[in-house]
Amino acid sequence: EADAALPKRSGRVALVGRPNVGKSTLLNAALGHPLAIVSPTPQTTRDAILGVVHHGPAEIALLDTPGLHRPRTELGRVMNQAAREAARGADVIVFVTEAPDPARLPRRVKEDEDGPPLAPHPGDLTLLADLGSEAPVVFVLNKVDRMRDKALLLPLLDAFAKLRDFAAIVPVSALREDGVQRVLDEVAKLCPERDWGFAPDELTDRPTRFFAAEYVREQILRATKAEVPHASAVQIERYVEPTGEGALHIDATIHVERPGQKKILIGAGAEQLKRIGTEARLRIEELVGRQVNLKLWVRVTPEWRESRERLDELGYNK
Ligand code: GDP
Ligand code: MG
Repeated sequence: EADAALPKRSGRVALVGRPNVGKSTLLNAALGHPLAIVSPTPQTTRDAILGVVHHGPAEIALLDTPGLHRPRTELGRVMNQAAREAARGADVIVFVTEAPDPARLPRRVKEDEDGPPLAPHPGDLTLLADLGSEAPVVFVLNKVDRMRDKALLLPLLDAFAKLRDFAAIVPVSALREDGVQRVLDEVAKLCPERDWGFAPDELTDRPTRFFAAEYVREQILRATKAEVPHASAVQIERYVEPTGEGALHIDATIHVERPGQKKILIGAGAEQLKRIGTEARLRIEELVGRQVNLKLWVRVTPEWRESRERLDELGYNK
């Protein structure tokens, strides 16, 4: 709720970081709604997604970006482009990285050992150097729930603090919703004084049909492995909103690159595809607040990730 005594603030805030560090999970925790899709597969997020949070006098338009990575396909290049553009136009940057995997941690830190046993990931060094200096940067170390030995936390945060002049440094567990409000507090202070641009109940600037496609893709990511998630794209063919009480009708095509992938996706007796459809439908129904009738088809579209034209058709070039 906005305090009438305080001047309104509004800022565009870019979530930037390597793939899989938890940017989308952080966005969802900040929104209090699972808007963005999340999965253990890197490069889950392909498009920048805006989520709007009203926090005290501040309107925070959080832009969740695809993680910056070394692109191997034309789609990869488009994703990097989307992330860079988001960072460029931002009033505030939230740089997200993750606490190291427990498997990589030493079992015990000896008291007499000098120096931090943990160092920032090399990919983070590159990204931080690329960020430029126009916008203030809030540093978020996510997944701190994975660090059982909290004595390791401070030296790691120190090592990051030396890399750059951060506006704030916040340890977070987006998964457990720990520290997320502190991130919003810090970001709110950095947002410029400006009128709000969104209605208080507006969650995003993307149409629900965009999320319908995303939620189908999310279930594909969860149900399949290896090359199938990366080779899949979802296209909404028909989207008919009912007048009155009826169901929302959605027809969607899942594009894959090879016949073998189509077979995997459909599964024996089409069981897998049915499951994907059911789970996605439930997610869409939660977002739109009404009944949804979802029909899915699978089509082989060879090399769609390498074709500018196909990417355009699938909506990946904006
Ligand atoms: P993104 O690629 O940066 O958007 O990362 P996602 O939000 O898709 O998350 C990648 C994976 O990390 C998923 O499996 C998440 O469940 C997991 N994850 C995200 N935040 C946390 C966290 O705070 N703690 C732990 N342990 N896992 C997390
Ligand atoms: Mg993501």
